[in-house]
Amino acid sequence: MSADPLHILKTVYGYDAFRGPQADIVRHVTAGNNAFVLMPTGGGKSLCYQIPAMARPGMGLVVSPLLALMADQVAALRQAGVKAAAFNSDLPSDERRALWRDVAMGALDLLYMAPETLLRPEIMERLSRVPLSLIAIDEAHCLSQWGHDFRPSYQQLDALVAAFPDTPRMALTATADAPTRAEILAHLRISESDAFIAGFDRPNIRYEIREKDDPRGQLARFLKDHAGESGIVYCLSKRKTEETAAWLCAQGYDALPFHGGMDRAARQANQTRFQNDEAVVMVATIAFGMGIDKPDVRFVAHIDLPGSIEAYYQETGRAGRDGLPSDALMLYGSEDVALRSRFIEESEAPEQRKRMERQKLDALLGLAETATCRRQALLSYFGDRCEPCGNCDTCAEPPRLFDGTIAAQKALSCIHRTGERFGQAYVVDVLLGVEDERILRFGHDGISTFGIGKEHDNRTWRAILRQLVALRLIDVDLAGHGGLSISEAGRRFLREKQTLMLRVPAAPRARQGKVSRQ
Ligand code: ADP
Ligand code: ZN
Repeated sequence: MSADPLHILKTVYGYDAFRGPQADIVRHVTAGNNAFVLMPTGGGKSLCYQIPAMARPGMGLVVSPLLALMADQVAALRQAGVKAAAFNSDLPSDERRALWRDVAMGALDLLYMAPETLLRPEIMERLSRVPLSLIAIDEAHCLSQWGHDFRPSYQQLDALVAAFPDTPRMALTATADAPTRAEILAHLRISESDAFIAGFDRPNIRYEIREKDDPRGQLARFLKDHAGESGIVYCLSKRKTEETAAWLCAQGYDALPFHGGMDRAARQANQTRFQNDEAVVMVATIAFGMGIDKPDVRFVAHIDLPGSIEAYYQETGRAGRDGLPSDALMLYGSEDVALRSRFIEESEAPEQRKRMERQKLDALLGLAETATCRRQALLSYFGDRCEPCGNCDTCAEPPRLFDGTIAAQKALSCIHRTGERFGQAYVVDVLLGVEDERILRFGHDGISTFGIGKEHDNRTWRAILRQLVALRLIDVDLAGHGGLSISEAGRRFLREKQTLMLRVPAAPRARQGKVSRQ
């Protein structure tokens, strides 16, 4: 077989050209470098490790979490004439012997294994005796403790780094928020500069994020533009799902509820109606989503704060699969934020988990409050990028801004003076000159930035810091304690003294009176 990647692409897969970042990734890994590949599902990750494995001398080792996934991949590869195999401990002993004979003879291009199997000493020993072209770790998010697919054996894969230090390593996944990404990179010793992140943009979705002041009125106005179309309205609670669906029906919409508290048959019936009918509005909790395969969902509205940026991306991503223009509306209110914060504080979760949850909430608020293009802010969360899109609310009508240059300078220099290791709450307290026990203990009441930010209140400073994080002037140590540090762009900002416009934080809503019913 030829070692030229493009030739392999054509002859083995029958494709004419690489798609998106595939060419760069394949070139990078074929040259012997490590890579972290983050692409949405369907983005074409498999080629990215399969082709370098064939193009390089030696056998490619692929770590995969599920036997079924491996079997599918191996079958497809064999069909295309690639010498691929999956090893698992259920294999009859004669097949097992044949497989190891092939491995020893260098007759395999790709060998798939589950981490538990691979990490057994006798298997590691066998592998150490054959040349490996690369090690690909598929579904790499399984090694993150914070993901829902955590597999303890994935955490032990750093043994591969020690055993095969000179073999290129690849980690591939479709779902990695910033902390998960950091964890994968750190764990597998893949450097930031080896990360390839692309394909997250959904250009046909128009993003709009508004403060919640009159949720039903706002929803009604949004839906008016979508008469006769299908869409999803996400709510936080089962009760609100029912109430909102009933209210929409009273307004003349064909609205159906969907939540985990309904019995299976009713849920199934509603899902089928949504799937097959023209203009059904599904009012749902996040229980709705798995297995929806409707190309013409024209809108997704979140009338409560979604769980995180990833959740928001995934839920809004159910709109416009057919590539036609679609709308995503999110309403966020300070009650939602307060409620979410309380849930986090009151939960029984370990402190590290709570920290992570707080950071996720902050990142989501950063997106909600950004003064720049929503799409840029959203993609930058995944490490992807784009130009200002012209297809979001902030592009269409830029928000009210204030000159935040001085505030940003104060915040950054306060982060600098406190050693770039404290979290948001601490930095704000120093800016406000709070004589807190920790601040006194660290002697930060004596530094020049102590109390220099009294012109803003705590809420405003938090909003400012979130915007600076969203603008990537401040980095957050997501894998650690959430410590803030000044990014390269932040240092440039301080050096070059550019003017920085920030979004005016919304005034807090009155507690009594017009509090919307949740
Ligand atoms: P992922 O693993 O990222 O979910 P896959 O590797 O399974 O995605 O690829 C998704 C689909 O796209 C597959 O059907 C694959 O054959 C196809 N595909 C991948 N790369 C290309 C390409 N360069 N040209 C055409 N089709 C491609
Ligand atoms: Zn935009």
